[in-house]
Amino acid sequence: MKTAIIGAGIAGLASAVRMAVQGHEVDVYESADGPGGKLSEFQLGDYRFDLGPSLFTMPQYVDELFRLAGENPGDHFQYERLPIVCRYFWEDGTRIKAHAAAADFAAEVAQQLEVPASRVMDMLADAAHKYHVSGQTFLEKSLHKVATWTNMGVLKALFQIPGLDLFRSMNAVHESRLQHPKLVQLFNRFATYNGSNPYKAPGLLTIIPHFEHHFGAFLPRGGMYSISKAVYELALRQGVRFHFNTRVDEILVNDGQATGIRIGQQAHPYEQVISNMDVFFTYRQLLPRQKQPERILKQEKSTSALIFYWGIQAEFPELDCHNILFSEDYPAEFAAMEKGTMYADPTVYINKTSHLVAGDAPAGCENWFVMINAPCDAGQDWDTLTAQTRARAIAKIGRILGRDVRTLIVEERVLTPPLIESKTGSHLGALYGTSSNSPMAAFMRHPNFSRQIGGLYFVGGSAHPGGGIPLCLLSAKITGDLVALG
Ligand SMILES: Cc1cc2nc3c(=O)[nH]c(=O)nc-3n(C[C@H](O)[C@H](O)[C@H](O)COP(=O)(O)OP(=O)(O)OC[C@H]3O[C@@H](n4cnc5c(N)ncnc54)[C@H](O)[C@@H]3O)c2cc1C
Repeated sequence: MKTAIIGAGIAGLASAVRMAVQGHEVDVYESADGPGGKLSEFQLGDYRFDLGPSLFTMPQYVDELFRLAGENPGDHFQYERLPIVCRYFWEDGTRIKAHAAAADFAAEVAQQLEVPASRVMDMLADAAHKYHVSGQTFLEKSLHKVATWTNMGVLKALFQIPGLDLFRSMNAVHESRLQHPKLVQLFNRFATYNGSNPYKAPGLLTIIPHFEHHFGAFLPRGGMYSISKAVYELALRQGVRFHFNTRVDEILVNDGQATGIRIGQQAHPYEQVISNMDVFFTYRQLLPRQKQPERILKQEKSTSALIFYWGIQAEFPELDCHNILFSEDYPAEFAAMEKGTMYADPTVYINKTSHLVAGDAPAGCENWFVMINAPCDAGQDWDTLTAQTRARAIAKIGRILGRDVRTLIVEERVLTPPLIESKTGSHLGALYGTSSNSPMAAFMRHPNFSRQIGGLYFVGGSAHPGGGIPLCLLSAKITGDLVALG
């Protein structure tokens, strides 16, 4: 079967491998000049930066692609488990090292916050329980096929399990279980892993720390881009053809069946089309004459971000790969984002890889990826917000780390929500597609197939099961299974 894939983001690449392994003849069309989409890299002077994702969980979903193709993953893709998944900093001098090992993390929290270690252990046990009850159902299957529910017969049961905390907020769950404002803030932060608001998102998202403290956080050898590169090279070995600098202009449909794509004036026939583009733009730009699923397209988006890529001419040994400098008022920070603006005292995330990946920065220097959560683009004055946020982030780093980084920044690039949209095609600059702020969010993402158009499939962060590298890889897996079933 001839299959066209639109977009070489991580889900498009994984789909290409899966289709090729199923014996399809596969072409991938990508408007950028190389693979990866949000998961790509760039060089700024002597510094290397990953463009988007910095946190890598569930590497087994990448390994699975090599095994499917009959290869040994370790021959092509290597990664290390991080012993400390994050360092947390507050303005009053409190610091917590989040060890990957749950017991060590709980002991550190007990020591720094003077709370019983059992609070953390119980919270993580609860996350594990939620994952086992619901993880497979919500993440690894199409929620939009009757077979999922008739075979498993679980939907009704799931909604009757109060322990899943579907109908109270993540923050409410944390407040009742953790009972210490800093610990609540630390666990609330996991909502941002899929661009949600902990004060609105359902308590089911308290599942997220299970990924980091049970399965682990990892760094690929060579940096995050190695994920895209490894899967891209695997696809090439499977015979997939890539067409870079090639924007697809239309998905051709005849009699309710996808029949190919159009690039400029040229039609290219295919029996099957997989869109790795944002679902919103797939409909608005490539299927303008087809019925638009307005309810899905108008859903609330996940948050976006302001990102500063800084080449830093100094070393900060107190910083690890992932670091969080917390806002003094987390609810106010999310309330500001709800209003479409940036808070005066933002939480600042600093990621660096130069101490772990040789060549990412010159000797004695560091590559900082500084990210501040931001609302999606609604026409705000981003020049002003960027300048304000840059100054506030620098001031916060100065207060917490005791050094003025202004004079240490020797390279700089900035990414704003409008630039995230224009560079990676994410509607309004959302990092993770639609938000997970409602209990029904899992059911309201676009399915991995089209209900109206035969032979048309959707993969990537804006389709089921959602954004983030692991879920994008699962979207390719679910789609591969749907295609195989016919
Ligand atoms: C700043 C940032 C930080 C993030 N941090 C993390 C993190 O730490 N961990 C994590 O797991 N996830 C993170 N994410 C989310 C993660 O990056 C995304 O969910 C994931 O990479 C999206 O992959 P995708 O397969 O949906 O495709 P995308 O990466 O969105 O790629 C889609 C591709 O389609 C191409 N395209 C669009 N239109 C066309 C067209 N008409 N013709 C041809 N090609 C087209 C685009 O050029 C693009 O390359 C982050 C995202 C961002 C932006």
